[in-house]
Amino acid sequence: MISVDDFQLGAAAWLAEHGRHGPPDYGAICPPDLVDRGVEWHRRIHAAGYAGIHWPSRHGGRGLTIDHNAAWQLEAARAGVPAAFNMVGLVLTAGALLSYGTEEQQHAHLPSTVSADRLWCQLFSEPGAGSDLASLATRADLDGDRFVVNGQKVWCSGGRYSQWGILLARTDHEARTHDGISFLVIDMGSPGIDVRPLRQMTGEAEFDEVFFTDVEVPATNLLGPLHAGWGVAMSVLTSERGHIGTAVVGLERRLERMAAIADGRELDPIERQRLAELISRGQAYRALARRQGSGATTAGSLMKLGISEMSFDTAILRGALAGPAAVLDGPDASGMLAAPGGRIAGGTSQVQRNLIGERLLGLPREPRA
Ligand SMILES: Cc1cc2nc3c(=O)[nH]c(=O)nc-3n(C[C@H](O)[C@H](O)[C@H](O)COP(=O)(O)OP(=O)(O)OC[C@H]3O[C@@H](n4cnc5c(N)ncnc54)[C@H](O)[C@@H]3O)c2cc1C
Repeated sequence: MISVDDFQLGAAAWLAEHGRHGPPDYGAICPPDLVDRGVEWHRRIHAAGYAGIHWPSRHGGRGLTIDHNAAWQLEAARAGVPAAFNMVGLVLTAGALLSYGTEEQQHAHLPSTVSADRLWCQLFSEPGAGSDLASLATRADLDGDRFVVNGQKVWCSGGRYSQWGILLARTDHEARTHDGISFLVIDMGSPGIDVRPLRQMTGEAEFDEVFFTDVEVPATNLLGPLHAGWGVAMSVLTSERGHIGTAVVGLERRLERMAAIADGRELDPIERQRLAELISRGQAYRALARRQGSGATTAGSLMKLGISEMSFDTAILRGALAGPAAVLDGPDASGMLAAPGGRIAGGTSQVQRNLIGERLLGLPREPRA
């Protein structure tokens, strides 16, 4: 197997030649006008062998290790391009399929996912279930060889352009909240699915509400055990947080650019102090990320919290340094408007603090209502 160092050198050389084809660095979700470019970029990455780096080769991956994958992410961030397109497919769905999928399910979905021929969305949150995800009410009733799905999901990133989705639905209505949930993969083209765009404060409509009315899903689309989808979902969310944590390298790039802003102008002492504080925080997170390694664990909550809070502070400072015009329009304004989303996506900052307190520090659990 190629060593991580040699792999990384090859990745850096490839990016130096091809990086100009990548879409610009975008925030938590890809804006609709960059989707085609994102898919085209992913196909180029895939053709060069930089997609599914640590997946088994029989599923279209390269059969290397998670450390090779981390090296690719680092080089992509250095080059200022996305390491992949469709994180929900590549990280969340593939993670669930590799850990819980049958051989048939893996064969049916992984090769088309790694090549970006099949894009995925995440259908977890509901109007009454976000942080408290286990109170979700969308139901999937088993009827012979199919489930019948009814309910509503919300904040579904990329729902409109995704061909498939990962869905959490209640399959046992008698069981305790966490115990009656199942994890399904669902064809977004199924009759009875209605996808409606939601406009957010950036002016873009990157999210969708998704309504299900008597949608038939083959029973073979169940991923993991019936009524025990909660465990599958938790492992998926841990991967999501771990993935967000790797954004530290992308953040370094942004900090470098910020430090460069300071080169060209006179900063007042307070601005200088805020900039220096952010740059040192970035370096501390980089050290933490190196110590933690490439695997996704509960400690990913530390990185998720640290990075999303830091991205928020960075966007605010960037706007402040750019001056009054930054609040009107342009990349600084959209950066500020998009920044709060990072503190919510993949589990809010408050929820990360609860996880860190209870699971890492062993503090008493907060009272449950
Ligand atoms: C950019 C972005 C992309 C997203 N993409 C998707 C997607 O593709 N698919 C999907 O299913 N969902 C997606 N979401 C939804 C996201 O997972 C939820 O918004 C998130 O889990 C919070 O749920 P909520 O919005 O219902 O807020 P709530 O859970 O109602 O929380 C409201 C506030 O109360 C606080 N709070 C709640 N519970 C506690 C507690 N126990 N202790 C302390 N504070 C608490 C929260 O921190 C928050 O500040 C996305 C969100 C964003 C911002």
